[in-house]
Amino acid sequence: MSKSEELFSRAQKVIPGGVNSPVRAFRAVDGKPLFIERGSGSHVWDADGKEYIDYIGSWGPLIFGHRPPEIVQALREVLEIGTSFGAPTEREVEIAELIARLVPSIEKVRLVNSGTEATLSAIRLARGFTGRDRIVKFDGCYHGHGDSLLVKAGSGVATLGLPDSPGVPATLAALTTVLPFNDPAALVKEFNTHRHWKEIACVIVEPIGGNMGCVPPRGDFLKILRDLTRRHGALLIFDEVMTGFRVALGGAQEKYGVAPDLTTLGKVIGGGLPVGAYGGRAEIMDAIAPAGPVYQAGTLSGNPLAVTAGLVTLRRLQKEIPYDKLEAVGVRLERGLLDAAANAGVPVRVNRVGSMFTLFFTDRDVFDFESAKTCDTQRFNRFFHSMLQQGIYMPPSQFEAAFISTAHTETDIDRTIEAAGKALKA
Ligand code: PMP
Repeated sequence: MSKSEELFSRAQKVIPGGVNSPVRAFRAVDGKPLFIERGSGSHVWDADGKEYIDYIGSWGPLIFGHRPPEIVQALREVLEIGTSFGAPTEREVEIAELIARLVPSIEKVRLVNSGTEATLSAIRLARGFTGRDRIVKFDGCYHGHGDSLLVKAGSGVATLGLPDSPGVPATLAALTTVLPFNDPAALVKEFNTHRHWKEIACVIVEPIGGNMGCVPPRGDFLKILRDLTRRHGALLIFDEVMTGFRVALGGAQEKYGVAPDLTTLGKVIGGGLPVGAYGGRAEIMDAIAPAGPVYQAGTLSGNPLAVTAGLVTLRRLQKEIPYDKLEAVGVRLERGLLDAAANAGVPVRVNRVGSMFTLFFTDRDVFDFESAKTCDTQRFNRFFHSMLQQGIYMPPSQFEAAFISTAHTETDIDRTIEAAGKALKA
């Protein structure tokens, strides 16, 4: 038995499913998780000492790879002065100033501890600010596990959502409308014909889908969202937990030139430590306690270690602006994967925005959750395990985006393409 297997059987006795977050369990690929012991740059080592090129990057935060020296050093310095005070610190002002400077639509920002906390707080704020209860989300977009967002499209009265997990009250789920991603007509219809449109507090969207695999917005989808929400007095929330500081310094909103009312952030802004944030126009953000009546709080929010890792990351991003470099590495990988698939005669699509990408096992374009579901997941599973066996650690699900960091070298990319060639032929 490998050390990972041994740890997993111990874990299953004391942790539900053996993991602290479901996708880690490798169930989607009928596998058992690797227990990871350490990481450095673009590589990780498992509990059995095997080395991998890592394309998970802690699910997005590690844009500079594992343990960039300046983060390690900064964290050491914080350890010398205190890990948590539950009182305001200068660093929180610095990171808020930096986020407000870099993200186009953010004037004020509140720090929380995860992406989930960011989205559920933003939704409460949208409801509190507008005095409306209904929200709209898109099929295949994931916004964390808040009750109002763990909702799937209802059948029959299509605009009333259904719980997507036991424990989510049906009456709450019915306040969430779930529409197809990248389909402006469905949205126009929702606002124009739905008798409840005056009750819509907000529309929340991943401006680049990252949780059905990588699915970029098509055409004017985001602009139409902006126009419709503005016209109907609903707030537009961009969930940039994954895309923020990942696809551009100012996130997807900068890349596509569409300014939401509220933005949620996480992952990269924590530099690998637990941080989330939500921000937007001052007029809206000032509705949050203690400035305003909408309640939201957190014992460890603004924690010095987490904020420091984030601050060092954002400052380095601001200094290096690595997005062209990441794009070039992404292009190299994308071309190599497409060539490898063509050589092997395997139909695939690669969706990629800069350093986030997905190799879809389908012969159709993937532009929403329905088209993502045309993928041959059995084929993906065989590909995943072959890659893993060859030392390439990809997300263990067809419906997750993979990430490149600035630590990935051309050698890493070429080794990955070579392994993909073998996996696809097999
Ligand atoms: N929003 C998006 C777009 C995400 O990708 C995620 C996490 N994958 C979340 C929210 C939830 O973040 P967390 O896991 O930190 O709660």
